[in-house]
Amino acid sequence: MKPLIDKHGREHTYLRLSITDKCNLNCSYCNPKNSKTWEKSKEILSYEEITYIANIFLACFGFKKIRLTGGEPFVRKDVDRLIESLAALKAKNAFELCATTNGIMTKGFLKHFRNIGLDRINFSLDSLCKETYSKICGKNALSDVLDSIDEAILAGFQNVKINVVAMRSVNSDEILDFVNFAIQKNICVRFIEYMPFSNNGYDKNLFLPIQEIQTIIHEKYSLDAIEDSRSVAMNYRIRGHLAQVGFISSMTNHFCKGCSRLRLSSSGILKLCLFSKNSDDLDLLSLVRQNATENQIAERIREFVLNKKQSRAEMEEIIKLKNNKMISIGG
Ligand code: SAM
Repeated sequence: MKPLIDKHGREHTYLRLSITDKCNLNCSYCNPKNSKTWEKSKEILSYEEITYIANIFLACFGFKKIRLTGGEPFVRKDVDRLIESLAALKAKNAFELCATTNGIMTKGFLKHFRNIGLDRINFSLDSLCKETYSKICGKNALSDVLDSIDEAILAGFQNVKINVVAMRSVNSDEILDFVNFAIQKNICVRFIEYMPFSNNGYDKNLFLPIQEIQTIIHEKYSLDAIEDSRSVAMNYRIRGHLAQVGFISSMTNHFCKGCSRLRLSSSGILKLCLFSKNSDDLDLLSLVRQNATENQIAERIREFVLNKKQSRAEMEEIIKLKNNKMISIGG
């Protein structure tokens, strides 16, 4: 085992696996209903291929965390089969198996997922108000998500997190409601800055910088910083409570310096950054299907990661990028 380090000295230990680009929601900031150029269904990695690749990251590079994402990971058929086969890899290499979900299909299954080896779960939830939720996500499903969150807490998932994409005039009036929700459930709420992607109809007037969100929260609560060098979020404990609040300032204050993550799409494309160009990607699906050995694949990944850029492009450039859909990359 030799750590995967790029030329800027960053060690990579975290793999985000987008296991499908299909989603059961049409969130306005991610996959709006009228987004015209829906990709043709691509060949996707099988569960056996995903497990094979995941094992390379664990055994060859000592990865510590794998997160299932999408699209919506829980819409892929028999996802428990994948969770079981990834969880079985923990016997040889210790790591955390996590998932990010919109929490609709998980309802009724959280205990089961916990039992078969899922360690952590994050829920995307952009409004606590039924009407606003439906307006943002395109489906009247808030109560299912809230039930899933309660089930996850009951099932014993540690450090359950809620991810909120904060948007001016859309859900910006709910900042304190979300903090109160976190306090009530003893969980962590994280506010994410709204980012531009291909076909998400990015509207810069909706952009709400993290600093403004912090000002709103500080009027009512005191926050104590929690040091965690591995996290992309700035995390705080809400003074007097067990709950936490986090801020992901991807736009106003990027965290490339401490980046330890790589992203693998459902079609087997390895990405160095959420905002990297397609021409910079590595096609692992082809390598696996050409029967490259584990060592050959590991070497290609090592060379690829070595040349990772020091930081992401500037916002003006990111806005112009084509073909980097969040729904294919998985956040
Ligand atoms: N379907 C799953 C879910 O809803 O969590 C996983 C995939 S989703 C693409 C992963 C994360 O990306 C979610 O937390 C979502 O809110 C976030 N996301 C998507 N588009 C975004 C955007 N334009 N700006 C900021 N965050 C975004």
